[in-house]
Amino acid sequence: MSPRRNVPRRKAAQRPESAEESLILRVTGAEHRETGPDGEWVLRRITGAAAAKVYRCPGCQQDIPPGMAHVVAWRPYGDGEDRRHWHSSCWQRRTHRSARPPRR
Ligand SMILES: [Zn+2]
Repeated sequence: MSPRRNVPRRKAAQRPESAEESLILRVTGAEHRETGPDGEWVLRRITGAAAAKVYRCPGCQQDIPPGMAHVVAWRPYGDGEDRRHWHSSCWQRRTHRSARPPRR
């Protein structure tokens, strides 16, 4: 008999907001994974309300102004140092453009 088998994991739902930066790689609720020709990425949607800073989009080399909804992409492994903010359309164009079958 093991009566503790179905103990709910309440602690997991009570993580403080301030710890988000360090937990962002483990929490998969708001993110989804995407596999492109250059490997695996984790994507997170940033709403316009949550976009408080100016970011440089690596797709078009232009600024993403505050208040504009966009996406953040980073590697599912590593420490999150490679996180990048993209225009939503630039991210889609990027995967579309490089989604070619590999040549041999
Ligand atoms: Zn862009």
